[in-house]
Amino acid sequence: MHGPGDIVELADQPAGARETVAPVWHARLTALLAEVSREALQGEDLEEVLRRIVECLVRNLPVAIASIILLDDEGAHFVQEVWAGDLDLYPAELAHGWPVSVGAAGRCARTGEAQLITDVDTDPDYVPGNTKVRSEYLVPIRHRARLHGVLNIESTQPDFFYPEARDVFDAIADQIAGAIHLARVVAELESANRKLEALSMIDGLTGIANRRCFDQRLAAEWEWQSVEHRELAIVLIDADAFKPLNDAHGHLYGDECLRELARLCARFADGADDLVARFGGEELVLLLPDRSLEAAVALGEALRRDVEAAAMRHDNSAIAPYVTVSVGVASVTPTSGRSPDRLIAAADRALYAAKAQGRNRVVAAQVE
Ligand code: GH3
Ligand code: MG
Ligand code: MG
Repeated sequence: MHGPGDIVELADQPAGARETVAPVWHARLTALLAEVSREALQGEDLEEVLRRIVECLVRNLPVAIASIILLDDEGAHFVQEVWAGDLDLYPAELAHGWPVSVGAAGRCARTGEAQLITDVDTDPDYVPGNTKVRSEYLVPIRHRARLHGVLNIESTQPDFFYPEARDVFDAIADQIAGAIHLARVVAELESANRKLEALSMIDGLTGIANRRCFDQRLAAEWEWQSVEHRELAIVLIDADAFKPLNDAHGHLYGDECLRELARLCARFADGADDLVARFGGEELVLLLPDRSLEAAVALGEALRRDVEAAAMRHDNSAIAPYVTVSVGVASVTPTSGRSPDRLIAAADRALYAAKAQGRNRVVAAQVE
């Protein structure tokens, strides 16, 4: 009777005996394929998936070494090898990768063809990993046109890689290709999502945070400061007579002034958790954790003076021949569960008062 363990002896069987054990082989190889499929779909990340596959091969078959060698995007260099088995002669110079001009795996990658080496001693490209290895089989790992790497299997038996076994390894290489392709698609999607997420938080004109980002950060800082019993200030900045500026100098100049205003405001967001954002239109906002009302007013006044000093020409303002800003300031120690809208409303009231009092000034308001 033959059990699953008999596979180890198969290569030693005379040709006639092979036919009688063929069903055992088939059952065993089918089981191996199924196990690799399961393994390939599990695992947290690609490296773990690949490691599980090579361990599965070494565990189930009389192979001394099984490895998956990954290529870089250009297909010119092997950049990573995931292996299992007895690899006691691993050349140190290969630890950081090697070009496809080197070794039997390189030949497999260069030609894009599976390589069967029935006697490693006569193969000019063979790089020994284990003195007992007699034969080697290398299969390209390819998904559509893209060559991801090479599946490498080394046996201590000279005639282990007979055609049915090679078919199974070819199929396993296809499964590995699918797993790598999936992992790479997922990684690319995640990276694209991260970029989109970052872009969705930035104002296109000024390059500072947008309103959406400000709203999220305000909600987060509100909760955090309420837990810490610390203050949270906001400084709301509105360009004076901006419509007349556009009318007199054109919208492109208006845009340029807005970018300059954003740059000037950004210099005041110098704390680790400070945020400068475009609140909307020609209004900008600073979110400033741990600032008292007095500190925030002083900051607003310094900013107002910096804007004056920047002397952006304005031929159509009743206030000055250059761009000025009105600033509304509010600060509060947040209470969890209450809306941060109260803080914005207070800064808005202060800003309205600054406009009413003649513009180009800083006014503070208490949070109700
Ligand atoms: P006030 O002193 O009362 O703030 O007067 P104002 O003209 O600045 O205020 P108002 O709200 O009447 O007009 C705001 C103007 O800001 C109108 C709009 O064309 C301009 N504005 C808003 N967003 C942009 C922008 O992205 N680029 C330019 N160039 N102008 C903008
Ligand atoms: Mg406005
Ligand atoms: Mg304005």
